[in-house]
Amino acid sequence: MTDCLFCKIVSGDVPAEVVRASERTLAFRDINPQAPTHVLVIPRDHHPNAAALAAADPGLTADLLREAHEVAAAEGVADSGYRIVFNTGAEAGQTVFHVHAHVLGGRGLNWPPG
Ligand code: 5GP
Repeated sequence: MTDCLFCKIVSGDVPAEVVRASERTLAFRDINPQAPTHVLVIPRDHHPNAAALAAADPGLTADLLREAHEVAAAEGVADSGYRIVFNTGAEAGQTVFHVHAHVLGGRGLNWPPG
Protein backbone atom coordinates (compact mmCIF):
# COMPACT_ATOMS: atom_id res chain seq x y z
CA MET A 1 0.00 0.00 0.00
CA THR A 2 1.53 3.28 -1.09
CA ASP A 3 0.59 5.38 1.94
CA CYS A 4 1.37 2.74 4.60
CA LEU A 5 4.35 3.59 6.83
CA PHE A 6 5.32 -0.04 7.47
CA CYS A 7 5.02 -0.94 3.76
CA LYS A 8 7.53 1.88 3.21
CA ILE A 9 9.85 0.30 5.81
CA VAL A 10 9.52 -3.03 3.96
CA SER A 11 10.39 -1.36 0.64
CA GLY A 12 13.28 0.58 2.19
CA ASP A 13 11.73 3.99 1.46
CA VAL A 14 11.62 4.71 5.23
CA PRO A 15 14.70 3.69 7.24
CA ALA A 16 14.48 1.40 10.25
CA GLU A 17 16.88 -0.48 12.51
CA VAL A 18 16.21 -3.99 11.26
CA VAL A 19 17.15 -6.76 13.72
CA ARG A 20 15.83 -9.78 11.84
CA ALA A 21 14.47 -10.55 8.39
CA SER A 22 12.89 -13.59 6.79
CA GLU A 23 11.36 -14.18 3.39
CA ARG A 24 7.93 -13.10 4.59
CA THR A 25 8.60 -11.03 7.75
CA LEU A 26 10.69 -8.14 9.02
CA ALA A 27 11.60 -7.14 12.59
CA PHE A 28 12.85 -3.66 13.50
CA ARG A 29 13.25 -1.53 16.63
CA ASP A 30 10.35 0.67 17.66
CA ILE A 31 11.19 4.36 17.19
CA ASN A 32 9.73 5.15 20.64
CA PRO A 33 10.71 2.16 22.81
CA GLN A 34 8.59 1.38 25.86
CA ALA A 35 11.03 -1.19 27.29
CA PRO A 36 14.74 -2.04 26.90
CA THR A 37 13.66 -4.49 24.20
CA HIS A 38 10.89 -3.13 21.97
CA VAL A 39 10.89 -4.66 18.52
CA LEU A 40 8.07 -4.66 15.95
CA VAL A 41 7.60 -7.81 13.87
CA ILE A 42 5.57 -7.41 10.68
CA PRO A 43 4.62 -9.43 7.63
CA ARG A 44 6.05 -7.99 4.43
CA ASP A 45 2.54 -8.25 2.94
CA HIS A 46 0.04 -5.62 3.98
CA HIS A 47 -2.73 -6.76 6.35
CA PRO A 48 -4.42 -4.11 8.50
CA ASN A 49 -4.54 -5.98 11.80
CA ALA A 50 -4.05 -9.36 13.49
CA ALA A 51 -7.58 -10.58 12.84
CA ALA A 52 -7.33 -9.80 9.13
CA LEU A 53 -3.93 -11.51 8.92
CA ALA A 54 -5.17 -14.65 10.70
CA ALA A 55 -8.20 -14.87 8.41
CA ALA A 56 -6.20 -14.29 5.23
CA ASP A 57 -3.03 -16.28 5.92
CA PRO A 58 -2.79 -18.61 8.94
CA GLY A 59 0.67 -19.81 7.87
CA LEU A 60 2.04 -16.29 7.85
CA THR A 61 0.41 -15.68 11.25
CA ALA A 62 2.36 -18.64 12.61
CA ASP A 63 5.56 -17.36 10.96
CA LEU A 64 5.06 -14.00 12.65
CA LEU A 65 4.73 -15.59 16.10
CA ARG A 66 7.80 -17.77 15.51
CA GLU A 67 9.79 -14.73 14.42
CA ALA A 68 8.63 -12.82 17.51
CA HIS A 69 10.01 -15.60 19.69
CA GLU A 70 13.28 -15.66 17.71
CA VAL A 71 13.61 -11.91 18.30
CA ALA A 72 13.03 -12.39 22.04
CA ALA A 73 15.68 -15.12 22.12
CA ALA A 74 18.19 -13.01 20.20
CA GLU A 75 17.53 -10.06 22.53
CA GLY A 76 18.19 -12.31 25.55
CA VAL A 77 14.72 -11.93 27.09
CA ALA A 78 13.20 -15.30 26.18
CA ASP A 79 14.05 -16.94 29.51
CA SER A 80 13.21 -14.02 31.82
CA GLY A 81 9.92 -13.34 30.05
CA TYR A 82 8.59 -11.05 27.37
CA ARG A 83 5.29 -9.85 26.02
CA ILE A 84 3.85 -10.04 22.51
CA VAL A 85 1.17 -7.39 21.92
CA PHE A 86 -1.09 -6.84 18.93
CA ASN A 87 -2.99 -3.60 19.43
CA THR A 88 -6.08 -4.17 17.31
CA GLY A 89 -8.23 -1.16 16.54
CA ALA A 90 -7.94 2.50 17.45
CA GLU A 91 -9.46 2.18 20.92
CA ALA A 92 -6.83 -0.44 21.80
CA GLY A 93 -4.09 1.98 20.78
CA GLN A 94 -3.38 0.84 17.23
CA THR A 95 -1.95 3.77 15.31
CA VAL A 96 -0.31 2.01 12.34
CA PHE A 97 -2.76 -0.12 10.37
CA HIS A 98 -0.25 -2.66 9.07
CA VAL A 99 -0.33 -5.57 11.51
CA HIS A 100 2.65 -5.65 13.87
CA ALA A 101 3.59 -7.67 16.92
CA HIS A 102 5.22 -5.59 19.64
CA VAL A 103 7.91 -7.70 21.36
CA LEU A 104 8.56 -6.11 24.76
CA GLY A 105 11.01 -7.23 27.40
CA GLY A 106 14.03 -6.42 29.50
CA ARG A 107 12.08 -5.03 32.45
CA GLY A 108 9.18 -6.08 34.68
CA LEU A 109 5.92 -5.56 32.78
CA ASN A 110 2.76 -4.62 34.68
CA TRP A 111 -0.60 -6.31 34.39
CA PRO A 112 -3.23 -5.16 33.56
CA PRO A 113 -1.69 -2.99 30.85
CA GLY A 114 -2.71 0.68 30.69
P1 5GP B 1 0.58 0.74 17.48
O1 5GP B 1 0.30 1.99 18.28
O2 5GP B 1 -0.08 0.82 16.11
O3 5GP B 1 0.27 -0.53 18.20
O4 5GP B 1 2.14 0.71 17.28
C1 5GP B 1 2.80 1.47 16.32
C2 5GP B 1 4.24 1.57 16.77
O5 5GP B 1 5.00 2.05 15.69
C3 5GP B 1 4.44 2.57 17.93
O6 5GP B 1 4.99 1.88 19.05
C4 5GP B 1 5.38 3.61 17.35
O7 5GP B 1 6.33 4.06 18.27
C5 5GP B 1 6.01 2.87 16.19
N1 5GP B 1 6.42 3.74 15.09
C6 5GP B 1 5.70 4.77 14.56
N2 5GP B 1 6.37 5.32 13.53
C7 5GP B 1 7.54 4.61 13.41
C8 5GP B 1 8.65 4.71 12.51
O8 5GP B 1 8.71 5.53 11.60
N3 5GP B 1 9.67 3.82 12.69
C9 5GP B 1 9.63 2.87 13.68
N4 5GP B 1 10.68 2.05 13.78
N5 5GP B 1 8.59 2.74 14.54
C10 5GP B 1 7.56 3.60 14.40
